[in-house]
Amino acid sequence: MRVALTGTPGTGKTTVSELLDSDLDVVHVNALVEDEGLYSEVDEDRDSKVADMEAVREWLAGEDDVLVESHLAHLVDVDRVVVLRCAPDELETRLTERGESPRKAEENAESEALDVILSEAVRIHGESKVYEVDTTGRTPEDVAADVDAAIAGDREPSAGDVDFTDYL
Ligand code: ADP
Repeated sequence: MRVALTGTPGTGKTTVSELLDSDLDVVHVNALVEDEGLYSEVDEDRDSKVADMEAVREWLAGEDDVLVESHLAHLVDVDRVVVLRCAPDELETRLTERGESPRKAEENAESEALDVILSEAVRIHGESKVYEVDTTGRTPEDVAADVDAAIAGDREPSAGDVDFTDYL
């Protein structure tokens, strides 16, 4: 079983990935890209490395029981995709409190309101493989239980139940 744990930055992927009961090996794509040099360029403007997703896909090719954690994880070949969601105002607060710039926090809040990652996940994998989990106002432990349920098959696929268009 290969699972992608994706979502806009700030939705809680890293936090939740550390709380799962699942036996899957967690692969943090950011750390992998850094450790293995799997980036195609350095974005000076954003002070970040641009992941070479083709190289990441190749690195993961032989890995069977993995949970891939990243806002790009839905670009990897997986059996299930869990998309964490968060209301844009709460997301902006989380990112600001994490120390991100106001510009980055605002950009991500807007991207979340526009369902960007959810839409990509559905387009690439189809609705039958996507599990949307709303994290708004919930504890990381509570969210982790939902993610475990999706991995275990104790939860039906879902996409589009969460609607943040009021924030646009
Ligand atoms: P991501 O990996 O998706 O970018 P993080 O796990 O780094 O997100 O979480 C972003 C910030 O939000 C962190 O400061 C974290 O402590 C906080 N956070 C994560 N999950 C929740 C949650 N369910 N409720 C409130 N705050 C959360």
